[in-house]
Amino acid sequence: MVAIFALIVLVQIFSIVISAVFLNKSHNNQIFAELEHYAKSFGESINMPLVALLARDSHYRISIIDLNGNVIFDNTFDIKTLDNHLSRKEVQNLLRNQSPKAVRLSDSERKENLYFTRFITLDSQKCILRVSIEKDSLFSYLQNFMPLFMTLLFFSAILSVILGILLTRLITTPIKNINLSHPIKTNPYAELHIFMQAISKQKKKIKKQLKRIKQNKIEFDIITKNMNEGFFVLDAKGNITQSNAKALQILRLTPYNQHINIFTLMGDFTRAIKESINSGNQTFEISINEYFLQVICMPIFIKDKLKAIIILLFDKSLQKDIFALRKEFSSNVTHELKTPLSAILASSEMLCNGLVLEKDRDEFIARIYAESKRLLVLIDKILKISFLDSSLEKNHIERENLNLANLITNILPNVQNLANDKGTECAFVGNELEANVLGIPALLEDMIYNLSENAIKYSPKGSKVQIALESDEECVILRISDNGIGIAKAEQERIFERFYCIDKSRSKKLGGNGLGLAIVKRVAKIHNAQITLNSELNQGSEFIVRFDKA
Ligand code: ADP
Repeated sequence: MVAIFALIVLVQIFSIVISAVFLNKSHNNQIFAELEHYAKSFGESINMPLVALLARDSHYRISIIDLNGNVIFDNTFDIKTLDNHLSRKEVQNLLRNQSPKAVRLSDSERKENLYFTRFITLDSQKCILRVSIEKDSLFSYLQNFMPLFMTLLFFSAILSVILGILLTRLITTPIKNINLSHPIKTNPYAELHIFMQAISKQKKKIKKQLKRIKQNKIEFDIITKNMNEGFFVLDAKGNITQSNAKALQILRLTPYNQHINIFTLMGDFTRAIKESINSGNQTFEISINEYFLQVICMPIFIKDKLKAIIILLFDKSLQKDIFALRKEFSSNVTHELKTPLSAILASSEMLCNGLVLEKDRDEFIARIYAESKRLLVLIDKILKISFLDSSLEKNHIERENLNLANLITNILPNVQNLANDKGTECAFVGNELEANVLGIPALLEDMIYNLSENAIKYSPKGSKVQIALESDEECVILRISDNGIGIAKAEQERIFERFYCIDKSRSKKLGGNGLGLAIVKRVAKIHNAQITLNSELNQGSEFIVRFDKA
């Protein structure tokens, strides 16, 4: 719009100046013709009284100048006041036989004098006749054009605004209608073809890049989502820009506050991160919420400026727990092994040294036998627990499709022998059930045997123990119940711990060592089965294990 306006104004100025110059010039030519005509009317030779007569009422200024430049007649000014005219342009022109016409500007430049000169003989003296007239100068013409110019300028401004809007619309509407999905097809201007080609190429390139970025993002999300480690990225200010599910879980963040500034939130963690960046030590260990973590903190510097911090969180809680449990387990094992071994050693030493009376020998030998058997059972259970722990750690267990009812039927005779020895009854309900689960037969047999053995062990003579199988849409449910001594609520959690016996001396008497339910718990875990306990003190207990159907 400004350009259109400027162009119109320029054209106007140009045409006004040209017209003014042209008008001025043609006016001057016309005046010169009149001046010449008038000068010639004086004839070749004239006398002063005739000059005075001719010049008296003339609207021209008539001067007669002698060849020395002195003005000897002038009808407008007193000749005494006039200086020598020899140097005047019109006089010089004539003397040098150049043009008889001359134009001189007034001091203000608003007026100009047009002169026509010719030689005449005045009273037999060769003189110069100068006829002149004053008129408006070119500058004055231009000034006269000013109001017209301003009016035109005003209309030009309006015209250029209207033209600008119309032209812009005319040009931009087709451009606006270009479909950027098909820039070449919908391009309305041939001049834009190369440009549209470039857009089309660029579009394809961007599309490809976007696809790649999208793919990378999907891959990145899948990888980070399934990572066991927490992963997140901070910007230089400490805002979380990226994070995976595990990191959100560890830091207890939700999708709503997942972009918080970590530096403003977590005191110890923030301090540790800052310290790690400053010291250059990228790894540290810290407890956050219920987690014990190994943290790897990688600051990213670009041109010595911290740009981002990548943080990896390795959950070491389990290892820490396992380490503590192993420590406790080893001391328990040592203690539990030492007891029967010491008894065996003491009895056998006394036998060897002949310190046992003949009548007591059988009793000593029986004690050695019983303790050795107890030792063997204990070692067997300890090895089982170690095996189950390492299987759980490795998380690689091959399971087969098996029928729990068949499995129970297999071990039922052994369990019933135990019950008979104790004077109790043991029945299996649900042996006709199609109770297929994925599992490891030997471990499941162990589990069912341990639970049944406990039910028999902790029930009085004449009581009834039941092994039952049921199934619903999704699960096969194993219930082993008794109406024995029951388990107090406070003990119900702890009985699954290794070496935990509610009453140590009672368990020892009954051949227990506190490992049976620890094994049961691990076997259930390996089979992703949920184990629950319903028990009332002195009323009996029911252990329920839910397996997913195969
Ligand atoms: P133990 O070898 O001592 O039986 P377990 O790990 O099998 O070890 O059992 C842990 C404790 O749980 C036992 O000492 C016992 O007090 C209690 N317990 C287990 N099963 C029963 C049950 N069916 N009835 C009552 N108490 C039980």
